[in-house]
Amino acid sequence: MIIVLLGPPGAGKGTQARRIQERYGLPQISTGELFRAAMGRESPLGRSVKGYIESGRLAPDEVTSAVVAERVAEPDCRKGFMLDGFPRTLPQAQALDALLAARRLPLDAALYFDVTDEVAVERLSGRRMCSKCNENYHERHLPPKQAGRCDRCGSALTQRPDDKPDTIRKRLQVYAQQTRALVEEYDRRGLLRRIASDQAPEKVAASVASMLDKILALRSAAAPALRSAAASAGEEESARSSLP
Ligand SMILES: [Zn+2]
Repeated sequence: MIIVLLGPPGAGKGTQARRIQERYGLPQISTGELFRAAMGRESPLGRSVKGYIESGRLAPDEVTSAVVAERVAEPDCRKGFMLDGFPRTLPQAQALDALLAARRLPLDAALYFDVTDEVAVERLSGRRMCSKCNENYHERHLPPKQAGRCDRCGSALTQRPDDKPDTIRKRLQVYAQQTRALVEEYDRRGLLRRIASDQAPEKVAASVASMLDKILALRSAAAPALRSAAASAGEEESARSSLP
């Protein structure tokens, strides 16, 4: 199963990705992590990525696609994978199509984690991080025992500058603008699955699981040859062969 994860900041995409990974064994391929890993390698691609990141420029679509292509060729992706942070634009989606077509792999779905601006702002603006050990807190959902102090080391908690409400609203606008064409395209192709993500993480995870289970069931129904080859030659098989 190959899926793309979409959703604005504050939609809880990262949390859901971890749960999908646990339940379905799909590796999560996030471009941010891929870039960091590529920079550490002494390959031509690694040097190219490093050049863009160090100069503060966005890597062009070809470079991003090449990094993703390299990653999905690894053995742990054989049974499928989920992409997080790629594609983000229509040209990147086309690059993904080409990459999958070359490997004869189908894209199963694009999950869009839908969240209202109010909830995203509430989630992100409440985040706090320890200035020393980087432990994470949330003013309402995960408060420290003593206000403003880290439970682990007692240091002061800080807020990331881009987690201020005004900045969050801007980030949400940018995300919506950047991904609009991509979301429309996946919707047109019948691949888009919207998931109401204003609810608690457990409820969101349950919706995701029922959706992905359905996709897997449809897949095995669409591939009876594969299924019967995998199944031992039992009653089902003989019943089928006796049909006219
Ligand atoms: Zn700390």
